[in-house]
Amino acid sequence: MTKYIFVTGGVVSSIGKGIATASLGRLLRNRGFTVAPMKLDPYLNVDAGTMNPFQHGEVFVTEDGAETDLDLGHYERFMDVACTAGSSVTAGKVYQSVIESERRGDYLGGTVQVIPHITNEIKKRIKQLAIEQEADIVIAEVGGTVGDIESLPFLEAIRQMRKDVGPENTLFVHVTLIPTVGPWAEIKTKPTQHSVINLRQIGISPDVLICRTEEALPEDVKEKISLFCDVPANAVVDSLTVKTIYEVPLTYEAMGLGDLVVERLGLEKHPSRLEEWAALVQTLKNPTKSVRIGVVGKYTSNGDAYKSIGESLIHAGIPHDCKVEIQWIESDTLEDVADPTALLVGLDGLVVGPGFGLRGIEGKIEAVRHARETGMPFLGICLGMQMAVIEFARSECGLTGANSEEMDENCAYPLIHLLPDQHGITDKGATMRLGSYPCNVTIGTLAHKLYGGSRITERHRHRYEVNNDFREKLIEHGMVISGVSPDYRLVEMVEIPAHPFFIGTQAHPEFKSRPNRPHPLFAGLVKAAIAAKASVKVDGKPTLE
Ligand code: GLN
Repeated sequence: MTKYIFVTGGVVSSIGKGIATASLGRLLRNRGFTVAPMKLDPYLNVDAGTMNPFQHGEVFVTEDGAETDLDLGHYERFMDVACTAGSSVTAGKVYQSVIESERRGDYLGGTVQVIPHITNEIKKRIKQLAIEQEADIVIAEVGGTVGDIESLPFLEAIRQMRKDVGPENTLFVHVTLIPTVGPWAEIKTKPTQHSVINLRQIGISPDVLICRTEEALPEDVKEKISLFCDVPANAVVDSLTVKTIYEVPLTYEAMGLGDLVVERLGLEKHPSRLEEWAALVQTLKNPTKSVRIGVVGKYTSNGDAYKSIGESLIHAGIPHDCKVEIQWIESDTLEDVADPTALLVGLDGLVVGPGFGLRGIEGKIEAVRHARETGMPFLGICLGMQMAVIEFARSECGLTGANSEEMDENCAYPLIHLLPDQHGITDKGATMRLGSYPCNVTIGTLAHKLYGGSRITERHRHRYEVNNDFREKLIEHGMVISGVSPDYRLVEMVEIPAHPFFIGTQAHPEFKSRPNRPHPLFAGLVKAAIAAKASVKVDGKPTLE
């Protein structure tokens, strides 16, 4: 019998339900259980693919090509699992399939309603994930805040789940905020009480309260919350703000949350086995070295827009005992200044990140140029790789009018053009080249050295590709095409061997990095950045072998 844990949030949005879900998942995974995480998102978009990264943050792509909420990235990184399309259920998806059924005539004669049709569809998807992933435990986070109109059908569905599968197989975890007010920083429990009242009106009584707080909650406060919210005192878990998000599972374990959940769900007791995790947290908190990596992007004012890239860089520092300080650089700021390189000094390495559309593109190209000319370790990701190819064509191949058809349809040299199977596609939702694809890596290249093999797979999200008409020209001038699709048609990776560390990938390696298993491309970049920082500079350029 699969067990179901439902995580809701109260009091304020952005309370950290995603990290809470992921951390709890880690505790259960470490105890040897198969855990399937999922996100129930109340918005009406069918998926996150068409949402603005300024507003919504990163679009996380799964192996099977679903464009999802960035919380799935937390689940994958903390739990070391691969989510699937079924791990992301939006109100849009649910309504779409109910309405399609209605049109087919599946409910002929019936009135289609939120209860039971929408709630049934939600429950079906939750149960389906359990079967699909043969999960001991499904842990489902409900997006939004209790009290929102949008999340009501989801809350009703999880209420019914308790009835369907039994209270012994379900656990409701509510994440809330305990603020402090006034000059004496008085701890206030009322918002939590009200949030729980809200939940109980819907028919859900939380079993566990995770209380976000700046200071440890005194026992009498826990007793008070326990009394008012009808939750045992040992199930009131204070979750203090910690130095690194990866510390959260350790704080939960220290509060006894792992054992409590196991006991409450009648699961087999296993040791928590958090030694490896504790060691990496220790390194993250006390690094002996540091490097500064610039990330040039188009949406950097939203700290979540490049979430997985930021986390991948942090992971890459761990084996080197190195703190990776990230300097976010909005690409159009590089266009607004007379000397863009002034914004890039002091960096030990550079990532030019993914993105869409014309804005800030010349800034990205300037950043690539700076890294290429100064020998600064460089990693180009998706659009960043495309811009690296354009910069190289303009500067080294004499193709001054080089550009991407995405930016200028009539450019003189369309180094980057539309993927052939994208012609004629007008719909924007889920129509890109998405998900995991294989790539053959050329032996003897930097990519081969980093990956340690010649057959790799990476996740993708793009419409454009390197134009094969220019392959020879690029090679002639010193660019190496180090990764291609198995049919040789698609350029997947490029590099410049004359440069200490210059590599670009059409894929999104950031989705596969784990804290205990940094991705080879990020690991390589950070290693090169450490070497660059330590190296003797000649004319301001690092001397690396
Ligand atoms: N806009 C580019 C394309 O569609 C790059 C996409 C990306 O960076 N994810 O090919």
